[in-house]
Amino acid sequence: MSDRYLVTGGAGFIGSHLCELLASQGKSVVAIDDLSTGRVENIRHLLPLPNFQFVRETIMNAQVLDRLASQSETIVHLAAAVGVKLIVDDPVHTINTNILGTEAVLTTANRYACKVLIASTSEVYGKATKVPFCEEDDCLIGPTTHSRWAYAVSKQVDEFLGLAYQRQFGLPVVVMRFFNTIGPRQTGRYGMVAPRFIRQALSGEPLTVYGDGEQSRCFADVSDVVGAVVRLAEHPGAVGQVFNIGGVEEITMRGLAERTIELTGSRSPIEYIPYDRAYAPGFEDMRRRVPGLQKISALIDYRPSFTLDETLRRVIAYEKQRLEAPTG
Ligand code: UDP
Repeated sequence: MSDRYLVTGGAGFIGSHLCELLASQGKSVVAIDDLSTGRVENIRHLLPLPNFQFVRETIMNAQVLDRLASQSETIVHLAAAVGVKLIVDDPVHTINTNILGTEAVLTTANRYACKVLIASTSEVYGKATKVPFCEEDDCLIGPTTHSRWAYAVSKQVDEFLGLAYQRQFGLPVVVMRFFNTIGPRQTGRYGMVAPRFIRQALSGEPLTVYGDGEQSRCFADVSDVVGAVVRLAEHPGAVGQVFNIGGVEEITMRGLAERTIELTGSRSPIEYIPYDRAYAPGFEDMRRRVPGLQKISALIDYRPSFTLDETLRRVIAYEKQRLEAPTG
């Protein structure tokens, strides 16, 4: 069992919840984050803990990364450019951050034989239409002229690279494909639908449903997700494997908008916005995205414990409190 963790992207949405869980389990946790999309507010409550340390730095700083890796047993690599909107707006940054960042983490980890858990994404399945997506399925990526696919391909390269380090050098690597994850602290700035809908509902603005709203997702609560990450990190059988991590309740975006309005008691209307206007001309969305969870369930007995309504209520409470006492 590993006692010393390094979490890249530790001040981000999933990263901050992971650091919180690890610290509460008495592990020694170092979070490295350049705060490009992460926020100190996410981890401020952890800063006084003796077993938590925050380093504001990019993972491209080889010297710092080397020092931190030399003191760690396990690295959970979450630092990445994420969010469809950010990717469409800044594809060069996305490709560079995701590929070069993972390369840096793996070479450094290899020096000290650290276990590495790489965060990947359901985006790697591309526009395949299979329900559910299983880890061994083929991926169907769109043309290179559409920036959206740069994210999927950059994460595929990360997966290839991680698995290659495992095969060639025996580095213990685990790949985690996160599906839609929601919970407190997620920012809506880069397109994520749940915090956007909730903020819109709470401020009385229209809920912006893209396309016809019949596209669906399965949302997982971030607490369930980070619980799974820790169990994968601690299970020797996870090494060299790829795992989907996601939710079980499928809902359309129209349904999510309606649910959000109901749970917030909002009077906001729903506004349907064509994809071309929401993202960029030619944008392709996924109609359904359902994770196959058999593999992870079999290994670590993964079972999401929050219902979608419970998670939405948690996010609503968090956003309400943020609106009342903005922290910047
Ligand atoms: N979406 C939406 N309104 C928004 C933001 C997103 O209808 O304000 C839709 C988006 O087009 C997609 C779904 O919500 O169909 C989930 O989007 P998100 O960016 O959260 O995650 P994705 O599954 O696309 O990675």
